[in-house]
Amino acid sequence: MDKNNFNGGNNQNKKPDNKGPQTAVILVVAAVITLLIFSFVNNLVTDSTKKEITYNEFMKMVEDDQVKSVVIGTDSIVITPKTTKTDRVLATPIMIYYTGIVDDENLPQKLMDAGVSVKGQIPDRTGFLESLMMTIIPLVIMWMLLSFLFSKMAKGSGMMGVGKSNAKVYVEKETGVTFKDVAGEDEAKESLQEVVDFLHNPGKYSAIGAKLPKGALLVGPPGTGKTLLAKAVAGEAHVPFFSMAGSDFVEMFVGVGASRVRDLFKEAEKAAPCIIFIDEIDAIGKSRDARYGGDSEREQTLNQLLAEMDGFDTSKGILILAATNRPEVLDKALLRPGRFDRRVIVDKPDLKGRVEILKVHAKDVMMDESVDLDAIALATSGAVGSDLANMINEAAINAVKQGRKLVSQADLFEAVEVVLVGKEKKDRIMSLEERRIVSYHEVGHALISALEKDAEPVQKITIVPRTMGALGYVMNVPEEEKFLNTEAELRTMLVKFLAGRAAEEIVFGNVTTGASNDIEKATDIARAMVTQYGMSKKFGLMGLETVESKYLSNKASMQCADATAAEVDKEVMALLKESYDRAKELLTENRECLDKIAEFLIEKETITGKEFMRIFHEIKGIPSEDDAKNEMIEEKTQEICEDKVETDTTQPEVIQKDGVVVELKGSTETESKG
Ligand code: ADP
Ligand code: ZN
Repeated sequence: MDKNNFNGGNNQNKKPDNKGPQTAVILVVAAVITLLIFSFVNNLVTDSTKKEITYNEFMKMVEDDQVKSVVIGTDSIVITPKTTKTDRVLATPIMIYYTGIVDDENLPQKLMDAGVSVKGQIPDRTGFLESLMMTIIPLVIMWMLLSFLFSKMAKGSGMMGVGKSNAKVYVEKETGVTFKDVAGEDEAKESLQEVVDFLHNPGKYSAIGAKLPKGALLVGPPGTGKTLLAKAVAGEAHVPFFSMAGSDFVEMFVGVGASRVRDLFKEAEKAAPCIIFIDEIDAIGKSRDARYGGDSEREQTLNQLLAEMDGFDTSKGILILAATNRPEVLDKALLRPGRFDRRVIVDKPDLKGRVEILKVHAKDVMMDESVDLDAIALATSGAVGSDLANMINEAAINAVKQGRKLVSQADLFEAVEVVLVGKEKKDRIMSLEERRIVSYHEVGHALISALEKDAEPVQKITIVPRTMGALGYVMNVPEEEKFLNTEAELRTMLVKFLAGRAAEEIVFGNVTTGASNDIEKATDIARAMVTQYGMSKKFGLMGLETVESKYLSNKASMQCADATAAEVDKEVMALLKESYDRAKELLTENRECLDKIAEFLIEKETITGKEFMRIFHEIKGIPSEDDAKNEMIEEKTQEICEDKVETDTTQPEVIQKDGVVVELKGSTETESKG
């Protein structure tokens, strides 16, 4: 759902012109034919009537009295031979001989003695015109053809559109986006606000002698609204918005990227004041050192960009905004003063930010009074702006499908789940045995949440499979948004992740592939505890890993000796084993709860956190009213659920889905087992 149609824009320049290439081909063929004819005629003239001879041969001709006249030029002697009677009868074409000049001061005398008429050179008009025709005219024709051709090609697309950036630049005269359309991201908006003022009146700043910013780099994960912010800057300043993706610059030909950069700046200069937005700048701005692999085309493009940025005059009011989610790979030269010296962080929204984003997108959607955007925001920790926009749209589509005029809270929760775990796979029939396994596995996870005080409350448990691979999952909704995790919380998380597998082992004496996702996540957490958070006794506070791409994958790389890495693995293994043992211990102690709730879940397929806690408390003999946690759950479930809970969250540690990826030959299909 993209109400702002952010990338499509009014790409006025991109009009496919199908006639162009055809005409061009015809013209090229015509040009080639013309050239061939020219050179053919030229050769004819040269070969049939002119012949170069040596000076000796020339002297011999003079001695043999075969020469009628000579013209001595500055660099050659042109010899006209005497014609014989036979030649005249047969009308043989007269052969003109020529030879180079040799420093021979007796030559005129010798010629005179032989009775040859001698002339100095007269500028040869026809020769001059001829050479003019032979060289300049084809050049002019070629030039005209080529320029015609390029102008045609640039409008169409294709390989030949080289050197013209307007094949892919999107220009919007007026984006119509303002800061109001960008929710959350207050710091980002604030630091861009002054930039807007600068675009409004560039003169004001340069008059005092203030250095104006040339560029700002928007840094953050995908979908957080970087493009939207750039557009909003243009919209607020009422200036045109030029945008191009970094990958658009880099083509198969060396030099194309550089010329595109040149053209882009030329166009922008004409339209100044304006904004140039370069999305995914890391595609061209990658560090030029060898670590990330270098190639000359990209380097040239980058150098051109740097040169253009240094070259233009800020008082014209051109501001370059660029976006990236991999700031760590950017070439340092890009970040120097006078280039992208401002860095604007556009991070994932917090709870308040998510509420605001939801409000912005809910504005144009008709909603009934059941809707509580705060509850949706609480359940979507980790979601970015584009996810949230998407959810609202999904909910609206769902309401329309069911013939309703208003979107309800249930629609929204269903949409949250659709965006995060896919649609329900109603047609998948699972055997009773498999449903039992999935059910026990999920209840295993859920019980840890109920038993451990550092765990997040259960919102929903389901064994209805989803299209994105989950065969079942437990949804936890945090009581409040957290920015820090304590060590105890992380340890509980490990136990919770591994409790699915533990339940399988305890109940069935056998284990399945369904825990692969859990194992992966548990391992990631355990490793981070050891290598990044200083939470292992053995290594203490030593940092052993660095996170390479904070905004993308969060994947870290080891920064230690191989021997240490092996020790780290052992430590991680020990942590996981300890957690698994704890999970088995807790579940064995609570076997009755496990059995009863699992049976209930098999029957119902989906149960709410409230139902889950009711059974749990019944078995444990805890009166519900006295239990603070339970009360909290009740409250939250009332808020969020109607009769059926439809919730989900984005954060991997919040939603616990179970699936295993089976790689099929030729295609990658996600097949899951719980
Ligand atoms: P990015 O450039 O960071 O990848 P976009 O700006 O392309 O993200 O965001 C995609 C869409 O998501 C936007 O068009 C908008 O509909 C929505 N969106 C993202 N962030 C926000 C936000 N902070 N406020 C409102 N909408 C947002
Ligand atoms: Zn699981």
